[in-house]
Amino acid sequence: MLKTGNDHLEGLRDGRIVYIGSEKVTDVTTHPAFAHAAQTIADMFDAKREKKNLDLFSYEEDGERYSMWYLRAKTKDDLRRRMRCHKAIADMTYGMMGRSPDHVSGFVTGMATAPEVFDTDTHKFSANLLNYYDHCRKNDTYSTYAVLPPQAARNPDFYTRQNLPVPTLQVVAEKDNGIVISGMKMLATSGVFCDEIWIGNLLPLAPNQVKEAVTCAVPVNAEGLTLWSRQAIARNAANEFDSPLTWRYDETDSMVICDKVFVPWERVFVLGDATLAREIYIRTPGHCYGNHQSNVRFWSKMQLITGLCSRVAEATGAIEVPVVKETLGRMAALEATLSGMIHGQIEAAEEWPKGHMTFNRRMMYAALNWCTESHSAIIDQLRELAGGGVFQMPASVDVMHDPELRKLFETYWQTPQLPALDRMKLFKLVWDMVGSEFAGRQQQYEKFYAGASFIIRNHSYREAPWEMFHGVVDGLLGGYDVPEPPAKSASAD
Ligand SMILES: Cc1cc2nc3c(=O)[nH]c(=O)nc-3n(C[C@H](O)[C@H](O)[C@H](O)COP(=O)(O)OP(=O)(O)OC[C@H]3O[C@@H](n4cnc5c(N)ncnc54)[C@H](O)[C@@H]3O)c2cc1C
Repeated sequence: MLKTGNDHLEGLRDGRIVYIGSEKVTDVTTHPAFAHAAQTIADMFDAKREKKNLDLFSYEEDGERYSMWYLRAKTKDDLRRRMRCHKAIADMTYGMMGRSPDHVSGFVTGMATAPEVFDTDTHKFSANLLNYYDHCRKNDTYSTYAVLPPQAARNPDFYTRQNLPVPTLQVVAEKDNGIVISGMKMLATSGVFCDEIWIGNLLPLAPNQVKEAVTCAVPVNAEGLTLWSRQAIARNAANEFDSPLTWRYDETDSMVICDKVFVPWERVFVLGDATLAREIYIRTPGHCYGNHQSNVRFWSKMQLITGLCSRVAEATGAIEVPVVKETLGRMAALEATLSGMIHGQIEAAEEWPKGHMTFNRRMMYAALNWCTESHSAIIDQLRELAGGGVFQMPASVDVMHDPELRKLFETYWQTPQLPALDRMKLFKLVWDMVGSEFAGRQQQYEKFYAGASFIIRNHSYREAPWEMFHGVVDGLLGGYDVPEPPAKSASAD
């Protein structure tokens, strides 16, 4: 099924409980903090259904049509189709929404190519995983995930020693028909706009953290579940002109609080196995599918930043300076570098798991590392090119509604390069990219969405072919030995 934007918005009016501070939000589709971003998501669902877009955004299997992000790739061409779809979705938000509907669904789909990983001596959950995958693609489900314990609360001993409840989400009861979970998880980006939340553990657990070792899926409106949103940045935007990115693309981040939430057995995928709770992401292509989407999403953002750098240099006149042209050349090279890293993941795809193809994992992790490491410097380049122009603009576009102020503005703010209004429009966008609260949140997102940098590098370490690297060194070392002593000369005798 391919649902409409309206279907999706209707589904969000389901009694879910969302707090912004002490304010309880009753309808996320109309509340000023969320309405525009909700519409952005709805537009994605509508675009997917347009006849001209059907092959880009969806595929057919056994007579039914499903969103492309549920495609289990069997060929390189399937991987290409996934990549093109991610790019088109990311282009709709210029890469500003990381947890668009093609992100977590990629995790679930990747896992569904190796469901046997979910079967252990204790539990046989592979059927649950496959049924869930089927449920998601049939209902065109939009899921987010909360797969980290709350920051600084990762040591349960501290709480148990003081007889305090451990805040980390864990199983508090097992029943005939399911389990009961309580506690917190961070950080459900886009959770307020989603149908479901995948709860799990992307960080390794200690072997004795058995109760925390639960992976399951819950609807956002589950009884006992509340979302605690961070500050709603979109509410600070007076209008789209002054804050174009904030206005449409604040995907939101929320803490997930579960207070005795019941989860039926069919939605439980890992239980009581601290090792498996983490390994499901890396022993299946789940992590790879999901983070390939992140690479592609960053690529869209990179194209916007590169274009903005050039437009700003045109607007200030700096483009005439050779060193500025060199800077722009460097930005274009960085964009092409990322494009190459993304395409390479398909050209060097892995035949894994059996009967399937997966993006090249090492290249995917390399791109993930590159994006995380480079984002601050890339944004800083745009900041440098913008200079003080961002603050030269009036506080609000409402000056255009006052004939006297408008005349002054249009006279004094025009430059040889651009009329005043065009300049204001460009520099307002630049500020939303480099300096607004939205921009600050983007910076934090790019640093942490896939884990802190040491976690990301650890993935590259794990996947690296150290034997091959060692073989190269050993081959070189093996090519020479202790030299023969120099021949003694006749005169020395
Ligand atoms: C905007 C945003 C959106 C997010 N969205 C989601 C989401 O949708 N779903 C989800 O599950 N999670 C999400 N996250 C959470 C994200 O996965 C975590 O923020 C991330 O894993 C880092 O964990 P932490 O924030 O607890 O930082 P910490 O683990 O506390 O690390 C903070 C810093 O401490 C240092 N540090 C800590 N431990 C070590 C160590 N062992 N070695 C070296 N340095 C160390 C590092 O400098 C690190 O950068 C999001 C985070 C942000 C900021």
